[in-house]
Amino acid sequence: MCPHTPACPDATAQDREAARTLVSHPDQGWSLLCNGIVIFEDTGELLPSGDTIAPHRPTDLSFQQPAFHQPVIFTPEPPAAQGSQAPAA
Ligand SMILES: [Zn+2]
Repeated sequence: MCPHTPACPDATAQDREAARTLVSHPDQGWSLLCNGIVIFEDTGELLPSGDTIAPHRPTDLSFQQPAFHQPVIFTPEPPAAQGSQAPAA
């Protein structure tokens, strides 16, 4: 039972990772959250029900491969074909 006010999200809630940390072992790469979830440093999770959630977030960023390496070039919409618009008044 969660003693916090407001109560931590339940283990089945969408925001379950927002529960407070009760025990943290960064040397071993895991933490126990208030709602019973064991969360690992690779963002994988072990739920109280025994179910697992695979790692789902990147844990490091490579400077060799930036997320956005293509320049964004603005290209205006091509002009509409004649006759497809109402004529200007
Ligand atoms: Zn709590």
